Amino acid sequence: MKKNLFKFKMTPQRMAILNYLKDNKDHPAVEDIYKSIITQFPTISLATVYKNLEMLKNLGMLKELSIGQDKKHFDPNVSPHHHLICKECKKIVDIDVKFDLNIPEHSKKGFEIIGSHIEFYGICPECKKKS
Ligand code: ZN
Ligand code: MN
Repeated sequence: MKKNLFKFKMTPQRMAILNYLKDNKDHPAVEDIYKSIITQFPTISLATVYKNLEMLKNLGMLKELSIGQDKKHFDPNVSPHHHLICKECKKIVDIDVKFDLNIPEHSKKGFEIIGSHIEFYGICPECKKKS
């Protein structure tokens, strides 16, 4: 991340995206981020917001979660952690428990493992109440 920083320009748009995501635990989708950013930058396009998110992700400032079919979600918490996902309302919640995910050497198929992420699916308490 550090070695790329000198090439990186912090534009007001990128600043606004980072501010929106800072301490945000909702894992907003690109469309949600766009809806907020356009209130400050009325001429910004969804593609530009997405490009900026990609850039911030490549710099290690954000994590992308591809959960569900086509919606990309962004997480400012870049430390390894797992998620609970509600099948009904699609809400994504952090799990703070660390799991020991070591797999046996022969199961790695020659891969050097650099990370892992577990998604637990279920019904959240709010949706459970409704049904
Ligand atoms: Zn739910
Ligand atoms: Mn998260």
